[in-house]
Amino acid sequence: MKQIYLDNASTTPLRPEALDAMMPYLTTEYGNPSSLYPLGHRSENAIADARAALAGLIGAKPSEIYFTSGGSESDNWAIKGYAHANKAKGTHIITSAIEHHAVLHVCAALEKDGFEVTYLPVDAEGMVSPADFEAAIREDTILASIMFANNEVGTIEPIAELAAIAKQHGVAFHTDAVQAFGHLPIDVNELGIDMLSASAHKLEGPKGVGLLYVRRGIKLDNLIDGGQQERGRRASTENVPGIVGFAKAAELAWDGMDAEANRQLAMRDHCIKRILAEIPHCKLNGSWENRLANNVNVSFEFIEGEGMLLQLAAKGLCTSSGSACTSGSLDPSHVLLALGMPHEISHGSLRVTLGRATTMEDIDYLVDSLKATIENLRMMSPLYEDYKQGNYDSIIAGYAADGMKNVHA
Ligand SMILES: *Cc1c(COP(=O)(O)O)cnc(C)c1O
Repeated sequence: MKQIYLDNASTTPLRPEALDAMMPYLTTEYGNPSSLYPLGHRSENAIADARAALAGLIGAKPSEIYFTSGGSESDNWAIKGYAHANKAKGTHIITSAIEHHAVLHVCAALEKDGFEVTYLPVDAEGMVSPADFEAAIREDTILASIMFANNEVGTIEPIAELAAIAKQHGVAFHTDAVQAFGHLPIDVNELGIDMLSASAHKLEGPKGVGLLYVRRGIKLDNLIDGGQQERGRRASTENVPGIVGFAKAAELAWDGMDAEANRQLAMRDHCIKRILAEIPHCKLNGSWENRLANNVNVSFEFIEGEGMLLQLAAKGLCTSSGSACTSGSLDPSHVLLALGMPHEISHGSLRVTLGRATTMEDIDYLVDSLKATIENLRMMSPLYEDYKQGNYDSIIAGYAADGMKNVHA
């Protein structure tokens, strides 16, 4: 059966060049990087090269890059590690309501440990307001963690502005850049970022490897005590093939960044325009302008997301509703709710995330299939019947901004 993969925010296929770079370290070059013979040294050198390459891409020093097992681990380490190492200075942390669970659940855990957390609201497009952020900073605020770009609706946050405010107030600034890394240019010095999380499998690298950038001078508790790996901060024998594949995928992503972003932008906007023009009672979620080039997120009234995803899957389309962690559960997405979406329609949302393999034909096939699917589901919806009889008011018609919605019947 045909398979069209449109779920690149949840993971990506491994780039063949990254696999090629990894192959020796999965086969003949199996030495432990800590060993004192050439087989070990070659692994050690491969890690040093990867660290230098990744550091160079974001304007960091190699000694500021720590390899981890992925985005979740990096988020955990940055926030818990910083909070515990600096609690003598204060116990207040600021984050946003639309963070990934790898940040939100860490904050919840810290609240049980005696820390206080402020969850900043966002506007209807998913933007954190710098003024709200500054107003939330207190005497005892030690850390802020605001994501670079949202994984559900693709909103890009004003990171430079937020980081400058944090710096002015002596607050350390961490960003979960998992969705931005390899997609947007990032320079940690220009942006004023103190800590940054990234994950290889979101940019066509292998699963199970990520990094945490930690600016020199930032104090952090160790993550894993044990051997001397990662300068004694994160023990455990290094994931050499993963680290090598991560660096290769990142270098290639940076090389082709502008061209690929423009290609995806054209497909994204074609997709959004067709959906808004051809499918009634729907709304684009997030911002149109200030959005990742690969993200489309639309809510459809009078349908259930589960049914939509299953019918699309039957047509070979891999898509998601909200985030991977939310689909499969009946809880509405915390991100869509934070954007002010009523519960009733937050269930009928679709996230389509493009990748390097996506073509314009894929997008047209998706929209054609989606039109048929929505029509089909609405034919079976008692709520839609009520609406047609004039016994129910459309919610989308009432609240969404013009130009971002289609309310026509
Ligand atoms: C995928 C994702 C993570 C988790 O990364 P893993 O490498 O899967 O642990 C964290 N934050 C965001 C924004 C993500 O999209």
